[in-house]
Amino acid sequence: MGNTWVALKGMLEYIGLEVIVPPPITKDTLSLGVQHSPEFACLPLKINIGNFIEAKKLGADVFIMAGGTGPCRFGLYAQLEKEILQELGYHYDSLIIEPPDTSYWQFVKQIKKVVGKASWWRVLQGIRLGYKKAVALDNLEKLVQEIRPRELAQGTADKIFHNSLLIIDRAQNLGELEESYILSREKLEHIPQDEEKNVVKIGLVGEIYTLLEPFASMEIEKKLGYMGAQVHRSLYLSDWISEHLLSPGLFKGKGEGRGSHFQNSASPFLNHFVGGHGQESIGASVLFAREGYDGIVQVAPLTCMPEIVAHNIFPQVSKSYGIPVLNIYVDEQTGEAGINTRLEAFMELLQSKKDALTAQKQYVTIS
Ligand code: SF4
Repeated sequence: MGNTWVALKGMLEYIGLEVIVPPPITKDTLSLGVQHSPEFACLPLKINIGNFIEAKKLGADVFIMAGGTGPCRFGLYAQLEKEILQELGYHYDSLIIEPPDTSYWQFVKQIKKVVGKASWWRVLQGIRLGYKKAVALDNLEKLVQEIRPRELAQGTADKIFHNSLLIIDRAQNLGELEESYILSREKLEHIPQDEEKNVVKIGLVGEIYTLLEPFASMEIEKKLGYMGAQVHRSLYLSDWISEHLLSPGLFKGKGEGRGSHFQNSASPFLNHFVGGHGQESIGASVLFAREGYDGIVQVAPLTCMPEIVAHNIFPQVSKSYGIPVLNIYVDEQTGEAGINTRLEAFMELLQSKKDALTAQKQYVTIS
C-alpha cells in the first residue's frame, strides 16, 4: 500500500526479521489477484492476493495482515486471503493482527508472536524507527504535492521523491534517517517553480488503500498535480499509525497525529462510524471546504460500503459549503482514459470558478 513498505520494513528489520518486499504492483499483479479472488471482493483484496503470490515466488513464508472488526468486509479479508492462498497451494504461515483499539493486550500478544526473541526495548526502538520513516516520507510527499503544479520542469519533484524513498529505506537508525530527510527536503526546496501561479486546491478523500496506493487510483493525485492542482489528502500513513497504533506521548513528537477532529466535523452530516474511513471522508471534506479549498475528489474501490454511505451525503456537504465534489470509483475494469477525461473536466470547472472569483476580487479592489 503505497510507501507503507518502507516504514514496515524499517521496523521489522530493526527487530531482526528478514523482510521480502513484493515487487511494485503492475497489471500482472492485478490480473493474478483477479483470477484467484471472488468477484464480489473489493479491489485492495484482489491486489493483495497478487502481492502474496509474487512475494511467495521470492521466498516469503509468513505474511502479516491487519484484521478488522467491520462493519465493512475488511474484517473478513485476512481469513479469506489465507484460505485462497492455501487452496492455491501457496503455503504461508499467517499472522493476523487485530487493531489495538479493540484490545491492546491482544495486540501486544500478537506482536510478541511476530518478534520472537527480540527484547521489548528493541521492539519499541524498531516501531519508533518505522514510524519516524513514515513521518519523514509523509512530510516530503506533502511538499511534492505543493511543488507539482508549480514546478517549471514537470516530474522533477517526483524523481527526487523516488530517490529519497530509496535513501530513507536504507537508513539504519534515527541519525541516518534525519540526515537523508534533510538532504531530500533541501533538494525539493531548490526546484525552480512559478511561485505566482494561481493553482486550485483540491482535498482528496476516500478509502485508505486507494488514497495511499497510486496504482489502485490510477495515480489520480499525480495527475491532478500535473493538471495544475495542489492536492492534500485526508489521510497519510503516519496519521493512521499515530491514531491507531501508538499511545499518546509514547512516540509522537510535537504536532504529529491528528486526533478525532474529522469525526467531529462530520457532524451533523454523518454522526456515527460506518466502517473504513467513510465518516472521515465527510469530516475531512467539511474541513477542506472551511479552509477555502476549491474542490473535493473522493476515490474508492467500486462497492466500498463506507464510501458509498459517504457518497450519498456529499450532495448535502457540497450544497452547504458551495464546494464541487467529484466521486471516482475504481476496479479492475476501470479505464484510464475515462478517469483522465473526468479529471480534466473537473479541473476546468474549478479553474474557471477560481479565475472568476479572483477577477471579481480585483474588480472590487479597483472600484
Ligand atoms: S473499506 Fe471499502 S474497500 Fe476496504 S474492505 Fe471495506 S468495503 Fe472493501
